[in-house]
Amino acid sequence: MLKTMAKYPSTLAQLIAFLKKLPGVGTKTAERFAFQLLNWQESDLHALSTLCAQLKKKITKCPDCHCLTDNEVCPFCHQAMRDKAQLCIIASPRDAYSIEETGAYRGLYHVLGGLLSPLDGKTPEHLHLDQLKKRITTLQIKEIIIALDSTLEGDTTALFLKEQIQEWGLPVSRLAFGIPIGSSLDFVDGSTLARALTGRQTF
Ligand SMILES: [Zn+2]
Repeated sequence: MLKTMAKYPSTLAQLIAFLKKLPGVGTKTAERFAFQLLNWQESDLHALSTLCAQLKKKITKCPDCHCLTDNEVCPFCHQAMRDKAQLCIIASPRDAYSIEETGAYRGLYHVLGGLLSPLDGKTPEHLHLDQLKKRITTLQIKEIIIALDSTLEGDTTALFLKEQIQEWGLPVSRLAFGIPIGSSLDFVDGSTLARALTGRQTF
């Protein structure tokens, strides 16, 4: 006789299905999370569900730089301490936080509308370059840093942007790619090593 599998109550099964949508969460982890949530206090569950329900409404994009904000004032554009002559071009609002964490950059940001990927129909129009040019002119930007991923799309977009920005007569640089700190050359893959050689610096 076949063993019948016990099914989760439908609410629990639905919760597991939602949790599985998160990156890196498989069935087992989703089940563990769901059972953990069952042990949470009612007030915490309520607070979490309210946050989720308001997420899209409360978090908006700054009309100027397109970084995230839950305030009328953008945390990057409206900070007095920032260097308003430097502009760092990023692909996603999330990248701004990674760069902020380094503490090495105090300029402004500009989130692109996407990366170039002609095969997926992502053409230069998706980059909203008119907005970028308007910001550069209005803010009187003196230097541009391109901080895009080292992928095919990132490289294609960076090259395209470089040509555009040079046409506008501004100095443009891109994040250096190289050997991760603390790693031995033996463990660095060929293309990273090639990039590191091309982008070598005098010291
Ligand atoms: Zn902003």
